[in-house]
This record gives sequence, structure tokens and C-alpha cells, in this order.
Amino acid sequence: MAIATINPATGETLKTFEPIADEVIEAKLELAQQAFKKYRQLPFEQRALWMQKAADILERDREIYAEMMTLEMGKTLKSAIGEVEKCALVCRYYAKNAAQFMADVPATTDASSSFVRYQPLGPILAVMPWNFPFWQVFRFAAPALMAGNVGLLKHASNVPQCALKIEEIFTLAGFPEGVFQTLLVGADKVADIVADDRIKAATLTGSEPAGESLAANAGKNLKKVVLELGGSDPFIVMSSADVAAALSTAVTSRMLNNGQSCIAAKRFILAEEIADEFITGFVEKLEQLKVGDPMLPETDIGPLATPAILKDLDNQVQTCIQSGAKLLTGGRPLSENAGNFYLPTILADIPPNASARQEEFFGPVALVFRVADMDEAIALANSTSFGLGASAWTTVNSESDRFISELEAGAVFINGLVKSDPRLPFGGIKRSGYGRELSIQGMHEFVNIKTVWVK
Ligand code: NDP
Repeated sequence: MAIATINPATGETLKTFEPIADEVIEAKLELAQQAFKKYRQLPFEQRALWMQKAADILERDREIYAEMMTLEMGKTLKSAIGEVEKCALVCRYYAKNAAQFMADVPATTDASSSFVRYQPLGPILAVMPWNFPFWQVFRFAAPALMAGNVGLLKHASNVPQCALKIEEIFTLAGFPEGVFQTLLVGADKVADIVADDRIKAATLTGSEPAGESLAANAGKNLKKVVLELGGSDPFIVMSSADVAAALSTAVTSRMLNNGQSCIAAKRFILAEEIADEFITGFVEKLEQLKVGDPMLPETDIGPLATPAILKDLDNQVQTCIQSGAKLLTGGRPLSENAGNFYLPTILADIPPNASARQEEFFGPVALVFRVADMDEAIALANSTSFGLGASAWTTVNSESDRFISELEAGAVFINGLVKSDPRLPFGGIKRSGYGRELSIQGMHEFVNIKTVWVK
């Protein structure tokens, strides 16, 4: 894929970039390695000052960064502003907590003194997607840099200006040269970069094929990776639930980011008793959403990020209908506009053998299912190869206990929207990936957990 800014609302190519040459990659890797030697020695207070400054810059120039995201990948401007603010939050969170998260942990053993010490690893490669072009990067960079690592970003090829802005923010904040660098390269360069001795570990958020490829290359070189891949999160509503609250959260969750979020609710699993009420309300609410120019404040849903995503999504929808599913609303691109717009869509009565049951729909498409009881709800929720998040709605304690223990997911939210929060670990199981981001657990992914034993 060419490295370019192409406005998904109009299809217009606004700016193209040449990938950096191999000699430039080499120079940047060397700079990262040299920067790490000094940067790792600095006290947390110094790094925290720069990280706070990065948060200040994000907050000060939130509109500028938000507009760049909207221009490059089509999320609504209002949601982009929220994303920039969340990036500032994660910077402040790690600025405040890093020293404590990285403090020695004493252990009582046969030694006169024994403890665990956390130390940074070195240059870490981050391969990031376009869907949350700022948030995905900051949730990697804030803990990694506060731990004393240095970062190299290979961002998605359709958000190059966001990638450059992020490097600029860390530079303006005062971080020394080489502590955070953007590499404008295609995916074809990732294998060589991962293999380079100077790279100590890698993280990738994106599709399963990209994750498999990175993990295979890292495995060959015995390097640690964290993978945050796709999901097809269940959203289960039991008969005791507050249906109105569940319904409004369902709309938010499925339509967030124009439907392009890994932790969006994608499969709506409804107890038979409330299914009709829920589905009627769901159709009504989706039909009220305004699809259009993402820069306008009244717009709810902007375009999908690329024409390929639009085409793939529409193919999935048509295949699902051909397999016997019923289309309740939407089901087609919005042809009046030049950009990659797709109508909010609901599919029901999906046959047991339909491929849709196993796929991630990365756009504003909801699949609804009816179940007779809790056993059926849990079995259906767990029936995909994914295991990222799960949301379950019930007011019966014994039911929420079962959801918490039996849902196969990296996160279970009861009566709430699955979301990422700096204070809680984030990540999946099964083919949704492994490792965690955020919180203390996320910070400890890229450190040497050193055992110290003194006689
Ligand atoms: P990709 O997984 O292709 O892109 C994510 C990142 O990985 C980009 O930086 C991309 O670079 C890079 N990449 C792609 N292939 C490789 C590879 N073989 N080795 C190393 N890095 C690679 O996602 P797409 O943009 O193609 O989206 C396709 C699907 O992926 C979506 O429909 C969705 O299902 C899923 N996805 C999930 C996300 C999540 O949040 N979990 C985020 C984005 C996508 P480049 O852009 O240069 O190709």
C-alpha cells in the first residue's frame, strides 16, 4: 500500500510520501540504540516532566491533531478530539505512576536480600493501525518511554501525517533525539527491522495476517511480541436487563469509530423474552444516525477508512444475506457520496453454518441472535476464534458471576461498554492476540524482570 493521505470522505489524494531508504532506516536504528544508552539512565522525574509536557501539547493542539485524524481515516471530528484527550490522559497516568510500577519488589527467600528489579529492554518496534491513529500509539509509547525504553513507530500507510505529528509531539515535549522515531516504511520492511539486533521486542495492533507475520519473524529471532488483533465481541442481553440502557450502549459500541473498533460489540446475543423489543429499538436507532461528512458536528458516522475496507465489508454482508440471513436495515454503501460511506446495517437469522458467524465485521454492521437461555448465550458467545472483549447485561448476580468466569475473553464488562482505560489491562486471548497493554501489566511487557539475590 502506498504511503499517502487519501481523504476517505472524498477519495481525494492529498499527499504522498516516499518510503524512507534503507540507509535512513539503518541510521534511525543506530540513533535509537545510542539514545537508549543515555535515556535509560535518566530518573523517572525527568521522563515524567517530558511526558506531562506531551500531554500539555496534546491538550493545547487537540483540534489540529483531531483534524488530521479525520482527514486521513474518516472518524468524526468530535470523536477524534476525544481520542486526543485520552492520549493526554494516558501520558499523565504513566507520568504519575511509572516510578511506582517500576519500583523494586522485595521477596523473602534464603538470601540476605532478594528482590525483583524492572529494567527497560531497549528499542521497541510498534506496528500500528489506522483506526485509532493517536490512541494506539500513545498507549504503547507512554508506558514504554516511561519505563526507559525507546520507541520506533511503523504506522499504517494511510495515516503518515498522524505518524509524523506524533514524533513531533515527543520532540516538542523535550524527549531527547532518537527516543521516539517514526519510520515511514511499508509493511514489507517490518521483517528486516524486527530481525535487527538493535530491536529488542515488538508490538502490533491490526489484523490476524499481520500479527501472524510479525509473530513468526519475531519468533525466528527469539524476540518478545505483544499482539492486539481483531475481535468479534459478544454483547449479551438477558431478560432481567435494563433493555433501554443496553440498547443505547449497543448503538454506541457498534457504531464507535464508524464501526471500526476491535472492541466494538459485533454479535448481539439476545434472550428470547426481550429480543423483539431490543431489535425493534436497534433498527429505529440505527436508522436515525446521520451518515456523512465527518468534519460536521451533526454527523454520527463518517466514511470507512479505505475503499478496500468498504468493499470487503459489503462482500461480507452480501455473502451473509446469500447464506440465508435476513437484512433488517442498511446493507449497502451510500452511493450518493464519493467517499467510503456504508449504511448502518443489521443482519438477523444468520444460519448456523454461515461464515459470518466466525468473521470480524470491521464497519457499522451488527449481527443479532436469539437464545433460549444462559447456556446457549455463553456457548454462542464463545463460539468464535476470537477472545477480545465481552459485554453482558443482567441484574441477576448468579448470571453475572457465570459470565465473568465462563466468557472466553480478555475483558468482561457487566452492564457496560467494553472500553480501554489506562488503569486496567487491555488485550485478548485466542486469535485476538496475547500480552497486555495499559496499567501496570502493560508496562511490564517490555521490561527485563530481573531477579536479584544477595547472599
Ligand atoms: P493491517 O493489519 O494490514 O495493518 C495494521 C498494521 O500492520 C499497519 O501498520 C500495516 O502496515 C501493518 N502490516 C500489514 N501487514 C503486515 C505484515 N505482513 N507484517 C508486518 N506488518 C504488517 O490492517 P488493515 O489496515 O489491512 O485492516 C484489515 C483488517 O484488520 C480490518 O478489517 C480489521 O479486521 C483488522 N484490524 C484490526 C485492528 C484492531 O484494532 N485490532 C486495527 C486495524 C485493522 P501497512 O499499512 O503499511 O500495510
